[in-house]
Amino acid sequence: MLQSVKIEDGESAPAASQAERTSLIGLELPELAAVLGPNQPAFRTRQLFDALYRQQVADLSEISSLPISLRNQILSCYSADLPAIEHRYDSSDGTKRYLLGLCDGRTVEAVLMPEETRDTICISSQVGCPVDCKFCLTALMGLERNLTAGEIIGQVLLIMRENGLKAADTRLNVVMMGMGEPLLNLDAVLKASRLLCDSTGIAISPKRITVSTSGIVPKMDELGRAAVRPKLAISLNASTEEQRQELMPITRKYHLAELMDACRRYPLRTWEKLTFEYVLLGGVNDSDADAKRVVRLLANLNCKVNLIALNPGPGIPFETPSDHRVAGFQAIVKASLPCFVRKPRGRDIFAACGQLKRVNTELVQVE
Ligand code: SAH
Ligand code: SF4
Repeated sequence: MLQSVKIEDGESAPAASQAERTSLIGLELPELAAVLGPNQPAFRTRQLFDALYRQQVADLSEISSLPISLRNQILSCYSADLPAIEHRYDSSDGTKRYLLGLCDGRTVEAVLMPEETRDTICISSQVGCPVDCKFCLTALMGLERNLTAGEIIGQVLLIMRENGLKAADTRLNVVMMGMGEPLLNLDAVLKASRLLCDSTGIAISPKRITVSTSGIVPKMDELGRAAVRPKLAISLNASTEEQRQELMPITRKYHLAELMDACRRYPLRTWEKLTFEYVLLGGVNDSDADAKRVVRLLANLNCKVNLIALNPGPGIPFETPSDHRVAGFQAIVKASLPCFVRKPRGRDIFAACGQLKRVNTELVQVE
């Protein structure tokens, strides 16, 4: 619930302790207007929005554009707090995995992957995940809760601040491929996307944000109707209905055939392609016959394919295929469609795809 701040002369709201203050990060203009109350002109709301999202102030006391009395009133109840860094794990390949504390004491993970030509921030949309994919470490956590829009964009703002990254610099990409199934938290994901893309605020282009789904069919349709939306990636991960039902039990609810129909009717923008991700599991879904079926499934779609060799983890009953097998699979798909192999990033710190389960790498030996 939003609290409106009273700003009549001489009346001051009771001071809240730092922990009790509600963060304004995640609020859009109408909500910020409600925070300021009915007596403030609209331009004050704009100034607050600008300070939070364009200037990205760490503390509300830094907002010099607001009159001091108004600033103090807001400060008594609100903050510009972001998730808190509880731990940072640094990979030998430059990847950084952040364990972030939320205001209810739960933790979530976000990853920065610096590359020569771009930087990618991978963020979470839920604490844990309710979709029970058999090859994914996050699945073992189950769902703890959805993240709010503020907690979703807070991960981006924090990593930008920590690493001196700027959105104006077109190197920056955001992928919602961390913990959780984003389309099961679509309202918050769409609100976060609007805030990330607002050209008067954080100003990251929707062309540089990707949301990845395990295939929540009705929510894909809803995403397609949103005015501001990231690009869409679909975790395909299997080449037949039965195989997908085994590896991704969500397929028993939304069949592979229905998923492919949803992809075919998805309203792509002129500049957009669908991305299909395919996790290769040695001896399970990585044969030449699988590759040929993938090509048939994706025929006539404007898309590309990203192959990911399984990133291993404790409790994951699959094997990583050999580089040779990955190359063989890629060669077959590539003859018909753009097909890339995603380089594993930060495997040594459990930061790679499907490895986010708050594993403490100081305690766990990898392989
Ligand atoms: N829940 C969403 C987004 C997060 S998972 C989704 O499933 O699409 C991000 C990507 O990691 C997905 O494509 C998923 O298939 C892949 N993935 C999951 N576990 C993996 C593992 N152990 N190794 C490699 N990729 C994995
Ligand atoms: Fe959830 Fe994605 Fe992992 Fe499946 S692969 S359990 S949808 S995070």
